[in-house]
Amino acid sequence: MLPSFSYVRPGTLGDAVKQAASEGAGVLAGGTDLLGCMRDGILPLTKLVSMSGVKGLGGIGKRPDGGLTIGSLTTITEVAESAVVRENYPAVSMAASEVASPQLRNQGTIGGNLCQKPRCWYYRGDFHCLRKGGDRCFAAGGENPYHCIFGGGPCFIVHASDIAPALVAFGASVRTSGPKGERTVPVGKFHVLPSVDVRRDTVLEAGEIVTAIELPPAPKGARSLYRKVRARNSWDFALAGAAIVVTMNDKTVTSARIVLSGAAPIPWRSKETEDAVTGKRLDDKVIAKAADAVVLNAMPLAQNGYKLHLFRGIIREELKKLAGA
Ligand SMILES: Cc1cc2nc3c(=O)[nH]c(=O)nc-3n(C[C@H](O)[C@H](O)[C@H](O)COP(=O)(O)OP(=O)(O)OC[C@H]3O[C@@H](n4cnc5c(N)ncnc54)[C@H](O)[C@@H]3O)c2cc1C
Repeated sequence: MLPSFSYVRPGTLGDAVKQAASEGAGVLAGGTDLLGCMRDGILPLTKLVSMSGVKGLGGIGKRPDGGLTIGSLTTITEVAESAVVRENYPAVSMAASEVASPQLRNQGTIGGNLCQKPRCWYYRGDFHCLRKGGDRCFAAGGENPYHCIFGGGPCFIVHASDIAPALVAFGASVRTSGPKGERTVPVGKFHVLPSVDVRRDTVLEAGEIVTAIELPPAPKGARSLYRKVRARNSWDFALAGAAIVVTMNDKTVTSARIVLSGAAPIPWRSKETEDAVTGKRLDDKVIAKAADAVVLNAMPLAQNGYKLHLFRGIIREELKKLAGA
């Protein structure tokens, strides 16, 4: 059952920041994750600060440098269907269209997608785990088929967003406004590993609100895609996935950014795979080496070793597509 809470709908960003910084307050965008978290007892909020009255946080616009600004309240459907996103950042568009179901994409926002809480069944269930201030991670020795194979410990969640890896692959940043003013944080540094702070998902401070996502111009001639593997084809979170952005000179890879989903507690940049292809001709031999490289430093748990096969297969299949594109 949802606990009782009060609801405010500020009309300005300044007021929203003030309200969000007050005791027990939380930021409400589309509510698709937040309300479930409150029902599950993992967000003990007493006041919801709706962003819906704050003007200027929605929509997609071109930046003077040729990049894009996506307002934090832009719905995931708008991102998925935007022609300018699809044309310049195909991996972002593909990732957005793979999120959840049409209804959730219509209601959920890109800001909320980056800030959503992890889906670990112990964390969301009746277990006083490390992330909730307890003294152990129940997944470590428990049911862990959907948990991480990189970056785990002391907690073994996976980061849930499909869009974040694609944003990291394009070098995007998050713009925020908070009690200490505005700042810009690379999406690659926005999420927090459990080994750094097991109680935090992002670097956001109390009252700090994501106002926009900034995408730099895509590298000239970049080819990109997002591949997601899930347990069923309707809606589901990624068991494994990858956002890949490469530039190529004929068949030779001149730059590569490869970021995994379903792999780690944060979007996981696979430098091993990037190194395996950069400066190389993307032929079958190099692709096979890259597929081995993606799992080189993986540390699977008792029940998620199958993810190694998924990541190898994803890298093999998707690099082949990009080589032939
Ligand atoms: C059944 C189901 C399936 C799903 N499947 C997928 C999937 O396959 N892939 C995927 O990527 N996601 C999936 N999701 C997650 C979904 O994408 C998120 O719930 C949604 O993007 C959150 O957006 P929202 O606007 O509803 O955020 P809310 O629910 O309003 O907020 C989510 C969190 O972000 C914070 N927040 C929101 N906006 C801001 C802001 N501007 N500044 C600071 N903090 C903010 C809130 O305080 C809250 O903690 C699924 C969700 C559900 C319920």
